Amino acid sequence: MTIPKLMIVIPAYNEEEMLNKSLGEIDEVLTTLIKHGEVASSSKLLVVNDGSADLTWQIITDNAAKNEHITGINFSRNFGHQNAIIGGLTAALDYGDIFITIDADLQDDINAIYEMVQQYHAGYDVVYGVRNSRKTDTAFKRTTAESFYTLMKKIGVEMVPDSADYRLMSKRAVEHLLEYKESNLFLRGIVPKIGFPSTKVYYARKPREAGTSKYPLKKMLLFAWDGITSFSVAPMRLILSLGIITVFISIVMTLYTLVQHVGGNTKDGWSSLMVSLWFIGGVQLVSLSVLGEYIGKVFNEVKHRPRFIIQDNLLDGANK
Ligand code: UDP
Ligand code: MG
Repeated sequence: MTIPKLMIVIPAYNEEEMLNKSLGEIDEVLTTLIKHGEVASSSKLLVVNDGSADLTWQIITDNAAKNEHITGINFSRNFGHQNAIIGGLTAALDYGDIFITIDADLQDDINAIYEMVQQYHAGYDVVYGVRNSRKTDTAFKRTTAESFYTLMKKIGVEMVPDSADYRLMSKRAVEHLLEYKESNLFLRGIVPKIGFPSTKVYYARKPREAGTSKYPLKKMLLFAWDGITSFSVAPMRLILSLGIITVFISIVMTLYTLVQHVGGNTKDGWSSLMVSLWFIGGVQLVSLSVLGEYIGKVFNEVKHRPRFIIQDNLLDGANK
């Protein structure tokens, strides 16, 4: 049996403060794996520069010039974390047999890579990195994350709780992942859908050592909203029940008004009119916005825009 080639895909956006250190440490892990004959000596770290405005690409090319384990691709602009992962996997596909995606900030314990590779050799196609504690997260991030997973489960989206985009995939898993062409990418929801034997590896997630999180609250909420509406029409169903309830209330209200009218105690009706007007107006607005969300998603998908554009590719001309 030939030794499999490992490609570690690392998305990086404005990571100049961390990148040298991260690449050094991840390369150590790779070197150890190579030494033990677990992966081929031609295995590589593929760093994806996602349109950074700082020296990130410079650092990648410098490292690539010094170290044959390191290579990179350079996006023409910022396409976002999920697209950076997809772009990296696309570029790496022909060069590897095993693929690991990991963030550039070393928040995910790189020692889990050893166990992931072991699980690959044990026959698993997908190995999820799952954090075993959220001690380092703020209480706020912890609660919001928990409610998010609960909500996703309720509306029927299968996800591996507390797994982010730190995972190993076999070549066939990546090939099938790349068949999901949606522009609103939510990898955590898609990867479980491709099937194949999968397992988990637990690790502790550390706080970021340097640089800043590229997921401020607003982006995090948008990401969660994308996750919900990309996989489920539950919000639309919710609107349907809201509508039914509203109709029911209106019927009761009408009956009540009729009875009052027949009884001769009709008020001038201004308050009830205003209340129902506002209420129905509100329900309609909510419904419209949810509909709009889905129409917007359809709009985005039918455009079939590229999810990333590669400007430079250090893999060009490399041996496959
Ligand atoms: N990232 C990226 N493009 C972006 C935003 C982030 O490639 O537009 C990368 C970033 O460099 C890091 C990873 O995605 O390697 C995760 O980002 P970050 O650490 O900021 O997210 P957090 O850990 O705070 O959720
Ligand atoms: Mg991070």
